[in-house]
Amino acid sequence: MRISEIFYSIQGEGRLIGVPSVFLRTSGCNLRCRWCDTPYTSWQPEGTSWSIDKILGEVAKYPSRHVVITGGEPLLAVEIQTLAEQLKRRGAHITIETAATIFKPLDCDLISLSPKLANSTPWKNARGKFAAMHERRRLNIPVIQKFLDAHDYQLKFVVDGRRDFAEIGVILGQLNNLDPTRILIMAQGTTSPVLNRKARWIVELCKRYGYSYTPRLHIQLFGNRRGT
Ligand code: SF4
Repeated sequence: MRISEIFYSIQGEGRLIGVPSVFLRTSGCNLRCRWCDTPYTSWQPEGTSWSIDKILGEVAKYPSRHVVITGGEPLLAVEIQTLAEQLKRRGAHITIETAATIFKPLDCDLISLSPKLANSTPWKNARGKFAAMHERRRLNIPVIQKFLDAHDYQLKFVVDGRRDFAEIGVILGQLNNLDPTRILIMAQGTTSPVLNRKARWIVELCKRYGYSYTPRLHIQLFGNRRGT
């Protein structure tokens, strides 16, 4: 499995915010978000090949049972199901963070779905050469629904402008059996001043629509740095 980094930090976003967790970051992504905050897993993927045993050995070095498998897009990894199964056998609480464009049955305690809105499409990056591919793949309603039906979940949207809320409404209208408290809105941004500025109007819109706001605590604490 191609791994970009493994590190121990606190969960910075979502329902488990603040929980000390081991992060396994896979490398490789089938999308190219224009604002991707881990370009070393997508636009310029880096990383080395790790066996499942080596990953399990690394995870065991840390004192938390919470493991977050993130990316990149971890669902692309052929061994993802074996890894999750092995971690589960060792008593881990597993969160898997995915853009929800691909479905696989998975052993996990929380699936963190982050479907990408139109604000993510890289029309101007790399002369727009990935834009059509990204547009075609970024939203897959049947896949999102399958995850919602199969797991405890959170459904997280990265918002860049007020108009994004209308788009979120259209997406939610196509999904069934949603718990509104599990719909999380996060600001697009990788610095505290930008996140704080956007948070003010996002929180007001969250109150209007009944969604939950999630900060990006790791950025506020450590900045946009690897290993945090
Ligand atoms: S899905 Fe995630 S890793 Fe992939 S390009 Fe978008 S933000 Fe980056």
